[in-house]
Amino acid sequence: MASEAQQLAEMKALVEGIADQLCETVDNNFDIRVHTDSDNVQAQKLSLLINFLLENVRRNVGQLAELNEKLETKVEERTELLDLVISGTDDGVWIWYFTEHRIEFSEKWYSMLGLSQSEHNPSPRYWTKRVHPRDRARLYTAIRALIEGRQSSLNIEYRVYHASGGYRWMLCRGACTRNSAGQPHLFAGTQTDITELKSIDPKSGLPNEHYLRECIGDAIDDGEDFSLILFSIDQVDSSSALDEQSGIGYLQELISKALVTGIDIEAVIARVSTTTFAVFKRLPESSEPAAATVRDVSRLVSMFNEAFCKKTQIRFSLGSMTSCELLLTKVEDAMNAAWSVLRHSKRYGCIQHYDQAYREDVSRRLSIEEKLRKGVKNGCVQPWFQPIYSGRNKQLVGFEALARLVCPEKGKISPAEFVPIAEQKSLMWEVGECILRQSMLLAKVMSGGIITRKPCYVAVNVSAQQLVTGKFADFVLALLDEYRLTPDYLRLELTESVLVDNFDVVRSQLSVLRQAGIKIALDDFGTGYSSLSYIRHLPIDVIKIDRSFITDLDSQDRKAAIVKTILSLAELLKLDVVAEGVETSEELAVLNAIQNLSVQGFLFSPPVNEREALTLVKGLNDTPVNQSVKVMSVGPDN
Ligand code: C2E
Ligand code: CA
Ligand code: CA
Repeated sequence: MASEAQQLAEMKALVEGIADQLCETVDNNFDIRVHTDSDNVQAQKLSLLINFLLENVRRNVGQLAELNEKLETKVEERTELLDLVISGTDDGVWIWYFTEHRIEFSEKWYSMLGLSQSEHNPSPRYWTKRVHPRDRARLYTAIRALIEGRQSSLNIEYRVYHASGGYRWMLCRGACTRNSAGQPHLFAGTQTDITELKSIDPKSGLPNEHYLRECIGDAIDDGEDFSLILFSIDQVDSSSALDEQSGIGYLQELISKALVTGIDIEAVIARVSTTTFAVFKRLPESSEPAAATVRDVSRLVSMFNEAFCKKTQIRFSLGSMTSCELLLTKVEDAMNAAWSVLRHSKRYGCIQHYDQAYREDVSRRLSIEEKLRKGVKNGCVQPWFQPIYSGRNKQLVGFEALARLVCPEKGKISPAEFVPIAEQKSLMWEVGECILRQSMLLAKVMSGGIITRKPCYVAVNVSAQQLVTGKFADFVLALLDEYRLTPDYLRLELTESVLVDNFDVVRSQLSVLRQAGIKIALDDFGTGYSSLSYIRHLPIDVIKIDRSFITDLDSQDRKAAIVKTILSLAELLKLDVVAEGVETSEELAVLNAIQNLSVQGFLFSPPVNEREALTLVKGLNDTPVNQSVKVMSVGPDN
């Protein structure tokens, strides 16, 4: 029996032998089995186990090699595909190796910025320093949000400097991968040139508002004066030849062409809304900027008058501003100023410049609006009453209530000034209610036993805003009830402008009032387009001949013929007639010679306050009003 030491040595030799064979096996790709000649069972077991392991390793390595080959082919395919996509796309591609502080750009990326050759080893700063200074902070913020994981992707528009000069708009999209610690690892994305999309109006092919705003911003940054003219197509006659061809689109095309060919080459012509165009121009330092703008505006106006307005029903509104007129700090200020004058122009039908006069006008309007809002509550909106006389003896028969806005600093403000503001600010219901209530108060006092004969009526002017609510008739009838007045104390006067919109509502409101016994007068008769049509279709009882037919009335002139015709028409239709604005005894004489009709005018009395009106009523007797007896001196302030 072998000693223990012998056995150990034998075992050691065996393991060494196996180890040698293993080394050999590895070198020879596992194709050799491990042998042992030993009778030792342990050694044989070890040999078997190793052979088994080797077999497994061999199989796995084979599989791995196969897999590796497949993977390599896949990577190759993918790389090829990616290269194909990158080369085929119009976008520039960038890959930012975060941990290596290195960035790579595709060839397209360079070429879209006008760079012919790629930069050797570019840094991220190479990119960001080309971004427009005004957009840089936004880009940094977006990148930071992505890195810090607050955003899952990058999606940002910015301007990048183009080698040919100027900037181009880019849309940059990207995403990043993170390592197991959540740290950003690889950051990649694309850059798309969106300059055209961003700056061009697709319909007209002109620059759009976005581009216009950029130009304004650049001029502000450069401290240069500029002008901005906005003009808008207001009215397109549906039957116009232009419209027939292909509608408003065709018209816009014509306007665009006219502008591009008719305006200075250095001006930017942009389309800022469906019907609004803008002309922006930097003004050279030496010129008088405001005067230059006014000249440009007149050129534009005559060009458009010639090209469109003379031949068609197209109308334009136009507003202009010059940067020197306001302390500009932002693009928004310039745009707001230009829009504000354009709106003004639309509303009041004139060309507007954003100048001192305009600003004063706006501030006066604001102050009137404020006074009106207070005035309807604190009694500063008041009716003044102009007496109306009738018959051969010119007997006092009524008053017309004429609204005044009384203000301590400015005296009485005329309705010609505040009624349009009240209408624009939808305050006419409140103003109307004020006047109606105070008129009814006067009528109530008059009805309180002072007059025994036929009641003296108060004629109140009504605006469209009151009638179109559809509640006006009920409201007036409720007021008559409240003041305990019969309907013959009240008349309502309306002008054609009231009737233009919502004709049906107005007609039904008037019918309710008429049926209740209130007389309706058609004001300013003869000045509108449809006076005759209205008296045919509406429940009218009275017509008021407009002052323009009365002023300088001479028995020999055409006006007298018109007045005669109106009177015979009224007689036929059984309508009462009031002649407005009688100022001279000559005018009255001519009127009297035609017919004894009701009259109203400065010859008799200007509008007076309630106390004076009551004095007139008290003195009312059969004595005719002497023309020399005037209640107050005549003046425009009345
Ligand atoms: P209107 O209804 O045609 O009123 C007549 C205007 O002519 C009044 O001007 C009156 O003061 C003026 N007038 C009267 N006689 C003479 C005259 O002999 N010569 C001259 N040159 N003018 C004369 P006023 O008060 O400035 O009112 C202007 C317009 O404002 C009114 O025209 C009316 O359309 C409107 N208005 C006045 N009050 C109200 C009101 O309460 N509600 C509404 N909706 N409109 C009102
Ligand atoms: Ca009137
Ligand atoms: Ca009138």
